[in-house]
Amino acid sequence: MTPRACPICRRPLPTARPADLGPFCSHRCKLADLGNWLDGRYVVADESPFSELDGMGAQDGRPGPGASDDNHDKDGRKYE
Ligand SMILES: [Zn+2]
Repeated sequence: MTPRACPICRRPLPTARPADLGPFCSHRCKLADLGNWLDGRYVVADESPFSELDGMGAQDGRPGPGASDDNHDKDGRKYE
């Protein structure tokens, strides 16, 4: 097995996660990645923006299209 890390927050991937998350640790990171591509500004931050904020919603204060609702899917369900 190869240790893998989330490409968004760079945390080690949880051992138990839905298969549809792909290479990401959470729906938040999956949607964040999608939003980055759609915005045409894919950047990998060196800091860990979700290290203290995980489970608290997007409160990192960084403005950006699509960045404020990335912990909800299209049905409005909230993911941790
Ligand atoms: Zn992640």
